[in-house]
Amino acid sequence: MLTESVPTGPTEADWAAAVAAVRALPADARVLLICHVNPDGDALGSMLGFALGLRRLGARQLQATFPGPPEVPEPFRWLPGLDLLVPATGAYPDPDLVVCFDAASESRLGELVDRLDIDGPVLVLDHHASNTGFGDVHLVDPTAAATSVVAEELLARLDVPLDAEIAACLYVALTTDTGSFRFEATTPAVHQLAARLLATGIRPGDISRRVFDSRPFGAVRLFGEVLGRARLEPAAAAGHGLVWTYATLDDLARHDQRPYVLEALIDSVRCTAEADVAVVLKQVAADEWAVSMRSKGAVDVSRVAVALGGGGHRFAAGFTGRGGADDVAGRIRAELDGALITS
Ligand code: 5GP
Ligand code: MN
Repeated sequence: MLTESVPTGPTEADWAAAVAAVRALPADARVLLICHVNPDGDALGSMLGFALGLRRLGARQLQATFPGPPEVPEPFRWLPGLDLLVPATGAYPDPDLVVCFDAASESRLGELVDRLDIDGPVLVLDHHASNTGFGDVHLVDPTAAATSVVAEELLARLDVPLDAEIAACLYVALTTDTGSFRFEATTPAVHQLAARLLATGIRPGDISRRVFDSRPFGAVRLFGEVLGRARLEPAAAAGHGLVWTYATLDDLARHDQRPYVLEALIDSVRCTAEADVAVVLKQVAADEWAVSMRSKGAVDVSRVAVALGGGGHRFAAGFTGRGGADDVAGRIRAELDGALITS
């Protein structure tokens, strides 16, 4: 049985500390913005939107980066602020301020983890209930639909007006993390934020097409193959059902596709009406899988993820699995019963 703790967001003291840390910076301070490995729309959008806001405030030495290869997934390659991106290897080694976006734990920061040990403050903007509390100033709101919700509030408290460039970044973050306003976290406040962003003149149809509805034909064929091998296990999760599939490096190579195209795969798998839990295993090395899990409400998949070394949210979580695909699926299956939501 799960005992749910009541999630609480940042206190007024946290907000004041974050505002003071930014306001204390001289214009020539070196500011490093970082986000989690394999950045998604929320990580990139909240980081770049906030970076553009700092630029409006007069910051002159700004860098944004993420761990691993400096490759931005194609759907995000038009975002305003991409000129601020540098490879992790070229990021300020000892910045005056670090601001971290959408990372629940230090392990998500790869080789950038040493930037948490700087003399200056480390601000952490996040919305994962599983956030481990690293860094100095914590703007962590588990009730926020996206990290961009937190970023927008900090920009407002810094008196940075929204413009179309900042809004495009934050809108991408908001739509990707809410599944285009379909998920439970889509509160009235989310729609009010969307309204403020749209009021800057950004075009939601264009943005959605670029982010969600534009893939190479090879990706469509690849999806067909990977969906064709999906397995349904109706008895798993105490009868709530599990559906899962996997995509190998060889699948990607045969269809000449980059790994980012697989990020959308979980959405096709989770359509399965007969299963509460959907899982996609994405091979990243011979015996290593990036695992995406989704639940429709019967299972807290963040419990499963944490038990297997990862993290995330109740209804969307992930971890790195080792071994064969069947072994990893077996380990997930074994954790499902213990992660049933009973209240
Ligand atoms: P996705 O399936 O879209 O990659 O991730 C869903 C959620 O799980 C995100 O909130 C993400 O932060 C979290 N997540 C995914 N993979 C990992 C992982 O390997 N480690 C941790 N700690 N969280 C993950
Ligand atoms: Mn997020």
